[in-house]
Amino acid sequence: NASLAELDPEIAAVLDGELTRQRETLEMIASENFVPRAVLQAQGSVLTNKYAEGYPGRRYYGGCEQVDIAEELAIARAKAVFGPELPDMHANVQPHSGAQANAAVLHALAKPGDKILGLSLAHGGHLTHGMKLNFSGKLYDVAAYGVNPETHLVDMELVRQAAREHRPKVIIAGWSAYPRQLDFAAFREIADEVGAHLWTDMAHFAGLVAAGLHPSPVPVSDVVSSTVHKTIGGPRSGFILTRDKATWGKKLDSAVFPGQQGGPLMHAVAAKAIAFKIAAGEEFADRQARTLEGARIVADRLTAPDLAQAGVSVLTGGTDVHLVLVDLRHSELDGKQAEDLLHAAGITVNRNAVPNDPRPPMVTSGLRIGTPALATRGFGAAEFAEVAEIIATVLREGAAADVEAARARVATLTENFPLYSGLAQ
Ligand code: PLP
Repeated sequence: NASLAELDPEIAAVLDGELTRQRETLEMIASENFVPRAVLQAQGSVLTNKYAEGYPGRRYYGGCEQVDIAEELAIARAKAVFGPELPDMHANVQPHSGAQANAAVLHALAKPGDKILGLSLAHGGHLTHGMKLNFSGKLYDVAAYGVNPETHLVDMELVRQAAREHRPKVIIAGWSAYPRQLDFAAFREIADEVGAHLWTDMAHFAGLVAAGLHPSPVPVSDVVSSTVHKTIGGPRSGFILTRDKATWGKKLDSAVFPGQQGGPLMHAVAAKAIAFKIAAGEEFADRQARTLEGARIVADRLTAPDLAQAGVSVLTGGTDVHLVLVDLRHSELDGKQAEDLLHAAGITVNRNAVPNDPRPPMVTSGLRIGTPALATRGFGAAEFAEVAEIIATVLREGAAADVEAARARVATLTENFPLYSGLAQ
């Protein structure tokens, strides 16, 4: 039983290097977070050894008495966090990832060839909402709605028109890159008008929903899917909820297993239970509030006149979620250059296409900047103001930016907010 360092020094070095990278940089990729140590512990535990095809109490393998408890806790806690007032709520916590949860949702709600209607990928939708190379685009007949070309907001009149024109079987609400809240009641009304099922993918904003800082799609959607690793800050994985167990519960369960997956990752299921336990607490709500506050601070700074003069602006003029979409169409920097400059300064963000982006997808004219990971690291208003200032300086000065000076300011922040203190991989 050799240690990792003895058995495989090359992989040990990767783990070490990644811990150092996470400690010494500012993580602002909107879909990332830092899991608590309890989650690292569960994921690195002996539960990884166990096969548990089936569901608690109805497994196809013996010896599931312990993992059954973990899955039952994860289900009960997910329901308590997202729908304590909904008596017919059902949760499936087995999806390995968000994409797998979404594959199962479509499998349950539609048949191959059925029409689905979601936000276009180019306007902030997700691959699994109908991108042509994804299973969703290959198996289903895809129609898309876009954001309003002037305001860059999801415009419910455009959604209504698209729904009336295409008469989809499933309407998808949800996004990967959009800085505002959606009007779930209006989605419901449109779905009812055209006889569609409403599926909300809350992967990005689920943590805000759990904290009561964002409207919940759960009471009005037929089905809601999510990841656990973005704003929630739990293990890399997915889950599915429905307010209507009688109609969708069995269909969803059988779409996950045996429809999409074999044995669930029980170490991840146990880690999900931990994440949902944390999500019910006050510290979690405080973290989500700081996440939102941080995004607002970044958006405010990046809409100031000095940035406007440098051709930098923020899509929709601000944010009411955990991310800001920077518009670089009029800047000397493209998305790739801006991402690289910030990376050199020690700030990790991702380039992102803006709607109707004139540049190719590998370059883009935008950035997506998120605050969940830094809020988890402990940042509050003062630190987010400093981060916003560093980003503003780099984007304003462009190729002439003093990246070393920016990097030194980043180092002060990372040193003041140690990450995983004492942890050695
Ligand atoms: N749904 C949305 C809205 C997402 O943004 C993402 C991830 O980026 C996913 C689903 C997929 O999650 P995963 O990467 O876990 O498959």
